[in-house]
Amino acid sequence: MIPALQPIYNNLKGIYNNQEFKIVEEAFLFAEFKHQGQKRKSGEDYVLHPLRVAIEVSKLKLDVNSLVSALLHDILEDTDTTSEELKNKFGEEVMFLVESLSHLTRLKRKANYKNKTIYRVENLRNLILSSAKDVRVILIKIIDRLDNMKAIWALSPEKQVENAEETLEIFAPICRRLGFNFLGQQLEEMSFPYVYPKDFAEIKNRVSNYYYEIEKYLDEARDELAKFLEQKRLHYSEIQFRKKTFFSIYKKYKKEGDFNKIYDMIALRVIVNSVPECYTALGLVHQLWLPLPGRLKDYISLPKVNGYQAIHTTVLTNNNQIVEVQIVTKDMYQNNEYGMASHWLYNLSKDTKSYTKRQNVSGLKILYKSLKNIDFQNTNSSDLYNLLVKDLLSEQIFVVTPKGDVIDLKVGSTPIDFAYKIHTSIGNNCKMAKVNHQLVSLNHILQSSDIVEIITDRKQKPNKKWLEFAKMAETKEKIRKELQKK
Ligand code: MN
Repeated sequence: MIPALQPIYNNLKGIYNNQEFKIVEEAFLFAEFKHQGQKRKSGEDYVLHPLRVAIEVSKLKLDVNSLVSALLHDILEDTDTTSEELKNKFGEEVMFLVESLSHLTRLKRKANYKNKTIYRVENLRNLILSSAKDVRVILIKIIDRLDNMKAIWALSPEKQVENAEETLEIFAPICRRLGFNFLGQQLEEMSFPYVYPKDFAEIKNRVSNYYYEIEKYLDEARDELAKFLEQKRLHYSEIQFRKKTFFSIYKKYKKEGDFNKIYDMIALRVIVNSVPECYTALGLVHQLWLPLPGRLKDYISLPKVNGYQAIHTTVLTNNNQIVEVQIVTKDMYQNNEYGMASHWLYNLSKDTKSYTKRQNVSGLKILYKSLKNIDFQNTNSSDLYNLLVKDLLSEQIFVVTPKGDVIDLKVGSTPIDFAYKIHTSIGNNCKMAKVNHQLVSLNHILQSSDIVEIITDRKQKPNKKWLEFAKMAETKEKIRKELQKK
């Protein structure tokens, strides 16, 4: 037993066996040894950072290799440890995961975020997504970012803004896209004050008071509802408060332009055990409190595009407060917070009985129309990852210029496509190409996250062969134009 690992023992008791806990201990001691003497910007010992990341990962009940990789995620980047060493000590999968994590770190350092345009931000996001290759890599990366955000106070004001912008524009949307809403929300909330300080101050000012005042009423309303449901013999599982985060309010405010139109700043969330019970609960809520017309939304029959499922209604409670009531099953709640990942997370903790039965994927089926009938129980994490970013991986790749600009190309593209995409004159004068610092032929097929450099020569002119090398129609078009000039 290592005292520092106590939270991990607690979170994974009954899920990991002794052998697996031993590996975790070994990884922790290895990380401690390798990071010895290193300090974080905040002044603490370096190893405390990977330890906290691993503790968060253990809450998600991921497999042992994920946990080990979380403990070792900075080891290739920041210590003298080699991949070979990792492989010998912890096996090939851990080596792959940690290498992918370092690869992302390096890419991100390369990719030039500063002179961003919206177009480039989107590409940078896609570059990260398409380079991760395994959903565990993204999850660990996001939790790493979450921990870094907690220590953002230790950075210079300039770095604070830069990191917060990157978090808000790159990492939070990645979370949303993959359905890790619980993580996306935390990232947004932590970045908001740094990226939009004035808006944050205004929202906080307006909302904090309101939250403070309404809490008392809401407590009463919750008790009233609980009693009523019990009286009518509806065995709900839980009634929660849901406060809208400052950043979500900000987004809604931007959309509505009026605070008074945001009816769902506070909601009561009733969690029940089955779909029929959702509708029973809805009937009872409307029996107890007056529903506001036009506010009933049935996202169970018609899930939102992102797969979200619940029934929403807005009511006037008996103490004259307007409150939104959300009704969900436990499964829907899990899906809404954890998205697709929840299927896979459940899968890993199959020892616990309650995790084995997964039926409610209807919302997800609508979301991923093309992926009907995925066998979640038998889908491994890298396959699932491919499914999640399928649309992205099947058509586009994302490569990086030596300056760090991220360029999107069609799958199968060559340096010729790349050169013309940068600028027609670079295409026309393209003589040689380097991929990841190695010379390659002009018909070399590029892969996502390649670093591509074009060597030009004014004497060089396009020739007919290039039409065969080019993958993209727009490239061919440009080459033809130039050939006609001659
Ligand atoms: Mn880290």
